[in-house]
Amino acid sequence: MEKIKVACPACGALNMVANTSNLAKANCGKCQHDLLDNSPVILNAKNYDKFTVKSDLPIVVDFWAEWCAPCRMMAPNFKEASKSFVMKAKFGKLDTEANPNIAGRYGIRGIPTMIVFKHGKELGRISGALPTNQIISWLNDVIK
Ligand SMILES: [Zn+2]
Repeated sequence: MEKIKVACPACGALNMVANTSNLAKANCGKCQHDLLDNSPVILNAKNYDKFTVKSDLPIVVDFWAEWCAPCRMMAPNFKEASKSFVMKAKFGKLDTEANPNIAGRYGIRGIPTMIVFKHGKELGRISGALPTNQIISWLNDVIK
């Protein structure tokens, strides 16, 4: 079976994993963390490229900030949506206040903004606090 590179949500190490959405089990070779844990990863300068460039899975990045009420409102929806994309797309959160250099690359005009990346390429973006079902249907469109 074809294998793809997947970044570990805990330590960021790149692992080779069978390319299927019905994997029963996969653990990180470095830290043993469950690679199928699809809860949103906290992105920072250290792990950003591993998830958005080097991993073979697309990742949807939620650009947010603590002071932004709509961002806080969307956070549980974002987390809920992540459960529907195990081994199809990773979910990551980028605090735009803590990481202005990264956020500054994309000309983001308002937050929350979600951008989908694969191998460093932007596949799609959308702004505004969306409900779970809209996040899911938008993402299905972008990564199909
Ligand atoms: Zn790991």
